Amino acid sequence: DTFISDKDPAVAAAVAIVYPTTRHILCLHHMLGNIADHLRPAAQGQGGWDRFLKLFWAAYRAVSPEAFEDLWGTLVAEFPGCRAYLDEELYPIRRQWAWAWVVREFTAGIRTNGRVEAENRVNKLVGGAKTTAFGLFLSMNDRSCDQCKNEMMAVRQTARHKHEADIEQIFPGPLAMLRAYCGPFAIQTCYREMQLSVFYLCEALKKPQGRETEPWVSNDISDDHAYVVLHYVLLEVQARRLTIRAIFKIRHLSTGAIHYVVVLTDNRVICDCGKLMNVGVICRHIARVFQDLRDLPFHISIIR
Ligand SMILES: [Zn+2]
Repeated sequence: DTFISDKDPAVAAAVAIVYPTTRHILCLHHMLGNIADHLRPAAQGQGGWDRFLKLFWAAYRAVSPEAFEDLWGTLVAEFPGCRAYLDEELYPIRRQWAWAWVVREFTAGIRTNGRVEAENRVNKLVGGAKTTAFGLFLSMNDRSCDQCKNEMMAVRQTARHKHEADIEQIFPGPLAMLRAYCGPFAIQTCYREMQLSVFYLCEALKKPQGRETEPWVSNDISDDHAYVVLHYVLLEVQARRLTIRAIFKIRHLSTGAIHYVVVLTDNRVICDCGKLMNVGVICRHIARVFQDLRDLPFHISIIR
């Protein structure tokens, strides 16, 4: 699915040849290190490094490609001394690091290659100069099986003590499937999202008058700048020639935070928070829709 590297040109060239259908994403940690090396002195001479980082993170977190362009423009305008590096080194590869694009890819929630580097220390512990690649593979496999066993035991313990009966009653089917087919991370994360989903209001947006019985096609929704994320999701849906069954507005009862969940006519679901796409587990917003849309099937394949 996804390959994460530190922007080494030889790796980039090799990935394109060896894994032609794989998305190549850049490690955020390495990228920030390079940005600091190249731009910190120049930024300090202009608006300051803190200001630079604030604007950079705003662009990084932009909720759509359009919003990214705006925020990137602000960053470059405020830091003209950094323009060359920003526009020549980072902008052309924005699809490989900025959230507006990365959110659509499954990365198991990973944004840096830090986990691989941490794991490398373990490789050195379990392997040595005389260990064959196969031997190393077997040791690592044993290690991850042990980890999984321990984590599953922890999940069972918490299931006994903490899991409230309410959540079990609201999501009996999905929970049974998660427990039967998923690993500890997916079970625990989905369970937590289900718990949090009860703090949201779910409101179905209405279809245009006179067309209530037709499937919802995305260009029926007028664009409002406040809903730029929804607009972006709808553009993606339209580009893939999918049709929409319903759109739900999910609002947090106390903070008022709003997300949109789109249900397609084939019953696939998309949430603008991107958790299902990027991390591969259901989010609280989708869990909230499952409470209202009782005929929406829960298919275990949505959990990656
Ligand atoms: Zn969500």
